[in-house]
Amino acid sequence: MHELSLCLNAVEIIEQQARKNGAQRVTGVWLEVGALACVEESALRFGFSIACRETLAQDCELHIIHKPAQAWCWTCSQAVAAERYDECPLCHCPTLHIAQNEGVQVKSIEVE
Ligand SMILES: [Zn+2]
Repeated sequence: MHELSLCLNAVEIIEQQARKNGAQRVTGVWLEVGALACVEESALRFGFSIACRETLAQDCELHIIHKPAQAWCWTCSQAVAAERYDECPLCHCPTLHIAQNEGVQVKSIEVE
């Protein structure tokens, strides 16, 4: 389950940020998930709850933001926001070049 390792990385970043801000506790986390990152939301939530155990982020609220990948369509000759690998959202041609495919990123955190 690669979601768990993604979550462990994310929690590490979250804890670093929280400590830097002198926080006692992390109450909310916003994770940005790339559309093509092959991440399943339920697995991500489960992995996150495990990764947060015994950290400042334990029992925090997890918000998941879906983000389309940045791609270039050779048929349209323009940049598009791709939700899939094999089809342009505008012309539905399989002529996409995925430029940027982000996995999971910590967008912001809420601390107290
Ligand atoms: Zn296109």
